[in-house]
Amino acid sequence: KNSWKSEAEGGESGDIQGPKVTYIPPPPPEDEDSIFAHYQTGINFDKYDTILVEVSGHDAPPAILTFEEANLCQTLNNNIAKAGYTKLTPVQKYSIPIILAGRDLMACAQTGSGKTAAFLLPILAHLMRDGITASRFKELQEPECIIVAPTRELINQIYLEARKFSFGTCVRAVVIYGGTQLGHSIRQIVQGCNVLCATPGRLMDIIGKEKIGLKQVKYLVLDEADRMLDMGFGPEMKKLISCPGMPSKEQRQTLLFSATFPEEIQRLAGEFLKTNYLFVAVGQ
Ligand code: ADP
Repeated sequence: KNSWKSEAEGGESGDIQGPKVTYIPPPPPEDEDSIFAHYQTGINFDKYDTILVEVSGHDAPPAILTFEEANLCQTLNNNIAKAGYTKLTPVQKYSIPIILAGRDLMACAQTGSGKTAAFLLPILAHLMRDGITASRFKELQEPECIIVAPTRELINQIYLEARKFSFGTCVRAVVIYGGTQLGHSIRQIVQGCNVLCATPGRLMDIIGKEKIGLKQVKYLVLDEADRMLDMGFGPEMKKLISCPGMPSKEQRQTLLFSATFPEEIQRLAGEFLKTNYLFVAVGQ
């Protein structure tokens, strides 16, 4: 367990035994074409039309069938088009209206099902609707949204999607993960940070360094929660929600994604989510 954890997190945390390899990751290209470059989607839409989705919980809003029905703002619609998205995936059809309605969500869906856009689009729509303070250089940043995923690959993919969808807006997304120089993470953050994408260990390190304040957090997303537990990140997740300044579950919107729904995850959902959360299971 430990060696897997240190592989993903790079062992910067004092409590993790592992190789002390730290490096400064090369920045991804910043030009518009690179930001919107289409990667292999791995999504087979024909297969998806037959996938069953089950929603449980009270007063679930109806699913949407098209991006237009989501009523997102023009900038987001432009970015969706530039990203080459035309049809919604099943998890997007059900999750987008739930998140837009302000509800907490536990969703069971596999990697590659389109979860990332399912949570990013409604969060960005709300951040823009509510008007966020334009990010600027500050020693202590107070992001409105924190997204946690277990590995650097996953969190980096989420960051690249966040960068795409927030293109041309005042929302600044930042990614930080273990195995890289802590100073590099700090330099990314202090330049401005509305949406913080982080692996659990690095996130807790940065909070410990008082570079991130949690008071403004309105959206907390935990992706691949089952994998986070398998990798031993349960304590970090629990520490995160009880950190000083972190708004209570009543005061924030929490979205939990997991490929499986074992007892441990159900307990986590009970602890992290409002009691009236909605549960979406994408057929597998
Ligand atoms: P997950 O978060 O569930 O692992 P992603 O959101 O990363 O999956 O989606 C997998 C791939 O499919 C990504 O390359 C993403 O850009 C693409 N994708 C997601 N939703 C759509 C969509 N509605 N239309 C076209 N491509 C999509």
